[in-house]
Amino acid sequence: MRAMLLEAPRQALRAVDLPTPKPDATQVLVKVAACAVCRTDLHVVDGELAKPKLPLVPGHEIVGVIVEKGEGVQRFKIGDRVGIPWLGWTCGECGFCRSERENLCDRARFTGYTLDGGYAEFAVADERFCFPIPKNYSDAEAAPLLCAGLIGYRSLVKTGSAKRLGIYGFGAAAHIVAQVARYQGREVFAFTRPGDSEAQAFAKSFGAVWAGDSETLPPEKLDAAIIFAPVGPLVPLALRAVAKGGTVVCGGIHMSDIPAFPYDLLWQERTLCSVANLTRRDGAEFFALAPHVPVRTTVQTFPLADANAVLNRLRSGQIHGAAVLVP
Ligand SMILES: [Zn+2]
Ligand SMILES: [Zn+2]
Repeated sequence: MRAMLLEAPRQALRAVDLPTPKPDATQVLVKVAACAVCRTDLHVVDGELAKPKLPLVPGHEIVGVIVEKGEGVQRFKIGDRVGIPWLGWTCGECGFCRSERENLCDRARFTGYTLDGGYAEFAVADERFCFPIPKNYSDAEAAPLLCAGLIGYRSLVKTGSAKRLGIYGFGAAAHIVAQVARYQGREVFAFTRPGDSEAQAFAKSFGAVWAGDSETLPPEKLDAAIIFAPVGPLVPLALRAVAKGGTVVCGGIHMSDIPAFPYDLLWQERTLCSVANLTRRDGAEFFALAPHVPVRTTVQTFPLADANAVLNRLRSGQIHGAAVLVP
């Protein structure tokens, strides 16, 4: 099968022919129809995440059809369309797994990071971690739901019942979260790189009541903010923008260092937290909710062989919505 392979961090991916993987007892073999490109892929390729599997096929927002399955597979049959997310395997035994926090499992394995992913014509996945994909989405439209949607949803849940919600970094996750937030009756305030009027217009097209530069304060105090951009200096800015008792959620897996800030910004019961990975329950909740909103994704599709160019465009902020590779 054709695949894009990372052989060492900070190198371009190389187009190679690999043997098609064989599913083991609880795995399915999926013919990849679409794989969205996530900022985490960029962090893996750029060497910002420790100890990836090497060589590695990146990609963890995979949609495809099951073409082969292990003898123990029970949830799915050949021909079913499934999504393969970032969370690829958990131990089921550790304290985190046994307290409904499998996202924090000590031995978790992650698609496109410690397991091979979807920048390829085929991928294998443990059936227990795959999701059925709602019928009303095309393959390419569904792909960004697998991470941008799921991690975005988990971040949104962490904001509780916040009415006025700030979102820093208006990319793939934000454009999905904004739709769910609006559906839930919240007001979205979008913050982008200073001067990025295109991203601000994009945010408004998804119902943001206000869009502006990340360094400016919103017209009203926010009840919560989610930071999707991997930029540490946004943390004190977001804390400054939330009201007493407000929450700031860091939704990314990697962030540059957070500068020192006065305790005043956290005082008055403001909360600062991060979101790590996802649980299968997040997925079940989100995929039940998405068609009702209905969540629409804005996608740009590219051939698999263009993966390096797509990663460069994502790095420089030239993707609005989500980029999706189609083998
Ligand atoms: Zn991701
Ligand atoms: Zn575990």
